[in-house]
Amino acid sequence: MAERRTEVLVIGAGPAGLAAAAAAAACGRRVLLVDDNADPGGQIWRGEGRAHLAVPARFEVRCGVRVVDACGASAVLAESAGGVERLTFDRLVLATGARERFLPFPGWTLPNVVGAGGLQAMVKGGVPIAGKRVVIAGSGPLLLAVAAYLRSRGARSLLIAEQTGRLRLARFVLGLAGAPQRLRQTLELRRALAGVPLLTDAWPLSAHGAGRLEEIRLRTRRGERGERCDLLACGFGLVPNTELAALLGCRVEAGCVAVDEHQATSVAGVYAAGEMTGIGGLDLSRIEGEIAGYAAGGDERKARAGLGPRRRARRFARALERAFALREELRELPDARTLLCRCEDVSVGRAARYPSWRAAKLHTRCGMGACQGRICGAAAAFLFGWRCEHARPPASPARIATLAAQHEV
Ligand SMILES: Cc1cc2nc3c(=O)[nH]c(=O)nc-3n(C[C@H](O)[C@H](O)[C@H](O)COP(=O)(O)OP(=O)(O)OC[C@H]3O[C@@H](n4cnc5c(N)ncnc54)[C@H](O)[C@@H]3O)c2cc1C
Repeated sequence: MAERRTEVLVIGAGPAGLAAAAAAAACGRRVLLVDDNADPGGQIWRGEGRAHLAVPARFEVRCGVRVVDACGASAVLAESAGGVERLTFDRLVLATGARERFLPFPGWTLPNVVGAGGLQAMVKGGVPIAGKRVVIAGSGPLLLAVAAYLRSRGARSLLIAEQTGRLRLARFVLGLAGAPQRLRQTLELRRALAGVPLLTDAWPLSAHGAGRLEEIRLRTRRGERGERCDLLACGFGLVPNTELAALLGCRVEAGCVAVDEHQATSVAGVYAAGEMTGIGGLDLSRIEGEIAGYAAGGDERKARAGLGPRRRARRFARALERAFALREELRELPDARTLLCRCEDVSVGRAARYPSWRAAKLHTRCGMGACQGRICGAAAAFLFGWRCEHARPPASPARIATLAAQHEV
């Protein structure tokens, strides 16, 4: 197996990883930044990430490289089109981001029911949206960002169903008065969405159609209503990607990678930044990335300069969490026949017979298919209150040859 050595390895080229790589390189370290996407930028700057690289970038960026496992304390196993390699490092910064949380409801597996961020990614990748009727449902600011993007790409009619309550949302927006830049961003978003109905206290009850989505039923403040649409884009907040950190032995608490003041994890020489350490938005991810990069690069003074901005950004993250906390009623969304695990066809009713995620996995194969519980694990954690953290290799789907190579002498 090929071996590659670097001083600082950064995994994940979203806002946090890009900031970390730039900071570690500014300390004079040899830095390698890898990401499994075709381009840097992460979720928010998908396909536009090169514009966010320091010009000229003082570190090496390699895309299309997926890290799938840990190899001891100072190396990871990665695969790419070029084969399998062991990436060895002195210091490691993890910046693997977050994914969307999907909650099951009757009909959620119909074609054209997709993730909200997922639909945005598909449209950025060239899927046509012009003229389509789209309902965007779930929770969190991502719904508005996606709606604005789809509108700019010609989506015909849009409706946003936000599960959080009107009063909670109003309180959140009023709280932005102390953060003029965020208030301006929110108002700009609302302006971009002028005329698009935003229902609060509203969520999807079921999706219907013959072979593909035709209509959804929504719970609203005024009762149940039907909405004909071509696409339902759904996302109930985000879930940190902690799998790789867990494989490296980093402590995970309440679903997030635990870090200290300098973004150091519980494993010596391994740092974590961005949404894998908690959901907080773009600014917090960048600040954390910078702190982690300087700390990994050995410049403690510069790392400390980020502590004040991080405190303020974390305050905003907590306000976001309160404003968009998921309501209890959503636990009643699926019926017993609704699929929980799409990879292994396990219904909510079957999984509910068991007392824990582990027992449900052992008896039903729930969470043991291609996605390895990335989707149904977060849903089961919400529906049943189970601990569904996953710490078995590979961290993401990998080729058999990659796993076999790990055991070559
Ligand atoms: C689907 C989705 C869409 C979003 N869209 C928006 C938006 O339009 N506007 C907005 O304000 N916010 C959006 N967000 C939120 C935004 O991503 C965060 O606020 C923040 O920017 C996260 O930055 P990050 O660097 O922590 O993670 P990310 O931007 O998620 O970057 C993490 C990177 O790590 C890579 N990675 C993960 N695991 C591995 C591995 N094992 N090997 C190699 N690479 C790996 C991923 O491919 C990704 O490129 C979105 C989030 C999601 C999940």
